[in-house]
Amino acid sequence: MDQLLQNSEPVQHVDAPGTPPHEHPGMEGMSGDMGSMPGHDMSAMGGGAATTPHEHMAMTADPSVVRLVLGLALGLALGLLLWARLALRTPVAAETTAHTNVLDWPVIGGLLRSRAFNYLLTVPTLIIFLFIVLAGLLGQQDTTNPATLLTWILWWPAVIFSFMILGRIWCVACPFGYVGDLAQRVFSFGLKPPQILKNMWWRLGLFLTLTWLTTIWNLYGWPWGTAWLALTLTMGAVTLGVIFQKRTFCRYVCPVGGVFGLYAMASPVRIAVKDKNICQRNCEDKDCAQACRWFEFAPTLERSTDCNLCLDCARACPHDNVILKGQFLGSELAEFQPHRKSLDEATAVAAVLGVSLFQTVVMLNAWPQWESTVSGWLHIPSGPILYTVTFLTLGLVVPAALVAAIAYLSCSREERRGDIFRAFRAYAYIFLPLGLALHAAHNFHHLFGEGGAMWAGLRRALASYTGWAALAPPEGAGLVSALGPNTLFLMQCVALLGGLYLAFWVGVTVLRRMAGQPGKALATAMPVLLFAVVYTVMNIFILAAPMAHRH
Ligand code: SF4
Ligand code: SF4
Repeated sequence: MDQLLQNSEPVQHVDAPGTPPHEHPGMEGMSGDMGSMPGHDMSAMGGGAATTPHEHMAMTADPSVVRLVLGLALGLALGLLLWARLALRTPVAAETTAHTNVLDWPVIGGLLRSRAFNYLLTVPTLIIFLFIVLAGLLGQQDTTNPATLLTWILWWPAVIFSFMILGRIWCVACPFGYVGDLAQRVFSFGLKPPQILKNMWWRLGLFLTLTWLTTIWNLYGWPWGTAWLALTLTMGAVTLGVIFQKRTFCRYVCPVGGVFGLYAMASPVRIAVKDKNICQRNCEDKDCAQACRWFEFAPTLERSTDCNLCLDCARACPHDNVILKGQFLGSELAEFQPHRKSLDEATAVAAVLGVSLFQTVVMLNAWPQWESTVSGWLHIPSGPILYTVTFLTLGLVVPAALVAAIAYLSCSREERRGDIFRAFRAYAYIFLPLGLALHAAHNFHHLFGEGGAMWAGLRRALASYTGWAALAPPEGAGLVSALGPNTLFLMQCVALLGGLYLAFWVGVTVLRRMAGQPGKALATAMPVLLFAVVYTVMNIFILAAPMAHRH
C-alpha cells in the first residue's frame, strides 16, 4: 500500500482498463462498422491523434492528511462499535408520529405545489439534452467535446447526488421520461405493464450493461457514442410509452433510475399521507392513484424507491391529505422490511458496493500493473474479455456472495434455521450506505477534480461554435483541478465516514428488530459492523492513492 501511495507521477487521461490512453478495447473487430458510422472519426477513437492529451498532476493527498484521516476513521469506528454495543442492549424506542410537511413551508411549499415547478426542472434539462445530442453527433470527436464533458463530469455525478439528497426528483427533470410522456400523449396502446417487468433484475442487468459499455466503448471519450446512448434511452422511454400505460420505462426498466432508486431510501424527504383513515373512509375516487404516473398509491407508499416526488398526487388529492414528509437520512433503509421472495434488490445493493469499488480501483495508476498480474493468473490477455471477467467477478459475484455470507453470520442461531437467502434479503439494506458513500466519493473526483476541464472544454466549444473568441478559456485552463488534492480527499473521506455512520445506524436498527428482544443481537452483530469498518478503511486507502483523470 505504501508503494501505491507513493506513486505520484503525472497522469494522463484514463481510457478503458487494460489499454493505453485513447485506445478502445473491443474496437479491433468493430473498426469496419464504426468507420461507416456518421459523424464518427476513427482517428479520434484509436491512437488518439485527434485528442488533446491533457496531463494532470496525480490527485494525491499529503501522507500527513491521510494518516490524520485514518486516525479519525479508526477513532470513529471504535466509538461506533461501543455505541452499537450499548444500543443493541436497549429496547427499540416507540415510534414518533411527529413529522415535518415541507409542503407547508412558506414559499417553498407554494412553489412545490405549483404545476409549473415540474416544468422549471424539465425545460432546462431538455435544452441541455438537445445540446449534448447535437454536439455529440456533429461536434469534434475527442475528449474536449461538451457532450462527453457535460454527460460524464456533470450529469452522471449530479444524478447520483440528487438521488441521495432529494430522492428520485431527477426523474421529474429527466428528458428521457419527458420525451416518452410527449410520445404517449400522441398515441399509446395503454397496456398494463406485464408481471415479468415487475422486479429489479431488468434494471440491475441494464445498469451493469451500461456501466460495462461506458468502459468497453470508452463512452467518456466518445461523443458520438454518448449522444447515441442518450438517444437510445429516449427511444426506450418512447417505445414503452407507446406500448404501455404511464411511466412503465421509468418505473420498471430505466438503468439509471432503477438501481440508483435504492439511494432514494436514504433521502430526507418522502411522500406520505396525513391520515390514512381519510383515504379509507372519505375518499371514493382515490384521485392520487389515478394521477400517479408511477403506479403508486400515496397511502400505501412504503418507501421512495419508485416515487419521483412529482407531487401530482398532492395536487390531485381533494382532501389535501398528501404530505412531503421530512425524515432522518436513511430512515427508510432502517424501517423497510422486504416482503418479496426475490433476491433482486439484495443483489442490486451488493452490486452497488462491488461496482463502485471496481470502477474506483480501475482508475488508480496502479491498476494496469494489477491487471497484468491478473492477466497472468487467468491466462487471458488484457482487453475487453479480461475486463468483462473481472468486472462481473469483482463487481457482482464476489460482493453478492460476501454480503450474503456476512448477513447470514449476523443472524441469531434461531434465524439461521431459516436460510442464507432470507438473511441476504433482510440485511442487504444495511450495506447500501457504504456503497452509496463510495459512489459519492468517487464522483467527487469527477465533479470537482475534473470540473475545471469541463468548464474549459465547454468554453472552448462555445467559442468555436459561435465564433466568439472571447468565450475561449485562457491557455492551459482546466489542466489543474479546482480543488487541491487535500481538500478533495477530505471531502471524499467525509462522505465515506458519513456512510459508515449511516451503515451503523441502519444496522443497529435492523439487527435489533430482527433479533426481537434487546441484547439478543449483540452476539451476532459483529460481522456486519466489522465489515462496514473494513470496507470504509480500505476505501480511504484506495482514494489516497494516485488516480487518473478521464478528461
Ligand atoms: S386522493 Fe387523497 S384522500 Fe384519496 S386516497 Fe389519495 S391521498 Fe387518500
Ligand atoms: S406517489 Fe405522488 S409524488 Fe410519487 S410518483 Fe406518484 S404522484 Fe408522483
